[in-house]
Amino acid sequence: MEITAGSHVWVEDQELAWVDGVVTSVNGNEAEVETINGNQVTTKLSKLYPKDMEAPDTGVDDMTKLSYLHEPAVLHNLAIRYGIKEIYTYCGNILIAINPFQAISHLYDTKLMDSYKGAQLGDRSPHVFAITDVAYRAMNNEGKSNSILVSGESGAGKTETTKMIMRYLAYLGGHAAAEARTVERKVLESNPVLEAFGNAKTVRNNNSSRFGKFVEIQFDARGQISGAAIRTYLLEKSRVCQISEPERNYHCFYLLCAAPPKDAIFRIVAAILHLGNIAFALEGEDSSVLEDDKAKFHLQVAAELLMCDLEALETALCKRNMVTPEEVIKRSLDPLGAAISRDGLAKTIYARLFDWLVKKINVSIGQDPDSKCLIGVLDIYGFESFKTSSFEQFCINFTNEKLQQHFNQHVFKMEQSVYQEEEIDWSYIDFVDNQDVLDLIEKKPGGIISLLDETCMFPKSTHETFAQKLYQTFKDHKRFVKPKLARTEFTIVHYAGEVQYQCDQFLDKNKDYIVPEHQELLSTSKCSFIASLFPSLNAETPKSGKFSSIGSRFKLQLQQLMDILNSTEPHYIRCIKPNSDLRPEIFENVSVLQQLRSGGVLEAIRVKCEGYPTNRIFSEFLERFSILAPEVLKENVEENVACKSIMEKVGLSNYQIGKTKIFLRAGQMAELDGRKAKLL
Ligand code: ADP
Ligand code: MG
Repeated sequence: MEITAGSHVWVEDQELAWVDGVVTSVNGNEAEVETINGNQVTTKLSKLYPKDMEAPDTGVDDMTKLSYLHEPAVLHNLAIRYGIKEIYTYCGNILIAINPFQAISHLYDTKLMDSYKGAQLGDRSPHVFAITDVAYRAMNNEGKSNSILVSGESGAGKTETTKMIMRYLAYLGGHAAAEARTVERKVLESNPVLEAFGNAKTVRNNNSSRFGKFVEIQFDARGQISGAAIRTYLLEKSRVCQISEPERNYHCFYLLCAAPPKDAIFRIVAAILHLGNIAFALEGEDSSVLEDDKAKFHLQVAAELLMCDLEALETALCKRNMVTPEEVIKRSLDPLGAAISRDGLAKTIYARLFDWLVKKINVSIGQDPDSKCLIGVLDIYGFESFKTSSFEQFCINFTNEKLQQHFNQHVFKMEQSVYQEEEIDWSYIDFVDNQDVLDLIEKKPGGIISLLDETCMFPKSTHETFAQKLYQTFKDHKRFVKPKLARTEFTIVHYAGEVQYQCDQFLDKNKDYIVPEHQELLSTSKCSFIASLFPSLNAETPKSGKFSSIGSRFKLQLQQLMDILNSTEPHYIRCIKPNSDLRPEIFENVSVLQQLRSGGVLEAIRVKCEGYPTNRIFSEFLERFSILAPEVLKENVEENVACKSIMEKVGLSNYQIGKTKIFLRAGQMAELDGRKAKLL
């Protein structure tokens, strides 16, 4: 569209990302704009986007209905909808959900569930129920498994969304109310248990899940829920020992006061708390002893709770076996070493307890071996980039790269299918792939995970030698950057932006290692439950202490997840956190845009824009633009011919006429509107 004085436009803004205004003058390829917040801005014409003056005040419920599909329009649409408590918006088949940080009345009522049952996507206002209903119906009608992938940054509302999906699936595929302990009830009831042990208060979310979760709901031939399986990924173990104010440890540590005293699970939780209070002091040159009577008291209680020998526990914390050809010598650890040993013990116990809980829940819910179809629901951490990003962020972002590739392929396929349905050509759309980042991370051999494993196995290596190895290996890799002056940092150019990782703890965090002394101590606990968490290893299984890697195991788990997802029809929900204060009614443009980028929404829009971002049913198009060629209406021709005549008269080409709709290239809608405005 030609931008002239008087045009309504969007212009870039430092603080608001985009702000609207009116062009006051045009000078060559520059324009002067007066923005609504009263600023005069001079900018290149090419940096301005037209504002749709005919867009409804309440926004549109699907981005693809926007007349001008561009970044500022997308952002503006979400902002006005959020302002009127419309938290859900589609972008084609993708559901965008913006956390309201307040209860919205009737948003999840049973009555509302009734109204979504069997409704086509788009018939009713956008909702998580609508997406779930589509998945459920597709499964029943086509006999194919479906999955719903929920993503977003911490606090964006993934877990709440997942719970709503579960509730709706239980509503659709549930059993008669008379059956008390139904599968679906057990699935719903597993949530609070998992949250108690896997969630904690963080600065980003008061109830932050510190693990990834994939719930597989199995259905029988009648579409009733017949079983379920929960898989978890990468629990944040370090939280058990390290928390910085105002964050908290896992909820269960605070729930302890309300726990039944007989219970073996809480015995363990309590023991971990006491372990955390055992402090060490230096003795002699490099040995450690319990610091004081308080430490002695906590050691004693911990030993009682773990039902193991008091002295054996102290030795396991403060000493290590040194195996020489002649004999086994007990070597003392210094206070720091003892503290690390103590934390390692606490983390291992907690991680085993968590895995046990998940297994137990799965057994209790029960699996249906005859189930033909499933609906998988993925609630997994979104892309993370912090001031210091470590191994956890590396794994999380690796996950997101994988999911992004899956998403890209899906978006591309969906876009194709729209064009195919209307029988128009789509062959030129460019498909971006992030395979290069994935290769950098996971290629075997040669990828970062492989190099990390090699480094970990080599006894003399340090995080510095690891970093050097990376710099050397990837010096020409497009997606790898060695930051200036860096010695132990590296940057990966992820699809969602650059992230700088600190190597310091990569080696330690990658080692999936239980100290043999700890293993031995706990496997002989008199509490059979605790002993069962640490089965003594026989000669067949790899020796405890032998190297196994978290990174490689995670990669394998992720591949298994992708295999399942690839065998399903996916549906995507992108959760957005509107502000970092966790408060209602605040919508921060810049951060929302960044999330739309990380979640691939902007990429999906780019794919659309490369093709035909706007389409209109013939009659709608004629209603809006017949004024540009009033004579065509009089000719009594077919609608598609009339549309063509209008485009020809205005002098636009490259559009496509489908079976029921006209498909416009980016900018053509604005061009048509511009012509119309001149006439009026
Ligand atoms: P995530 O799992 O993405 O980290 P959560 O699902 O735990 O985020 O959501 C964080 C908080 O936001 C919740 O504890 C709740 O207070 C609020 N919240 C999220 N979704 C909704 C919703 N749909 N309606 C009302 N409040 C919500
Ligand atoms: Mg969560």
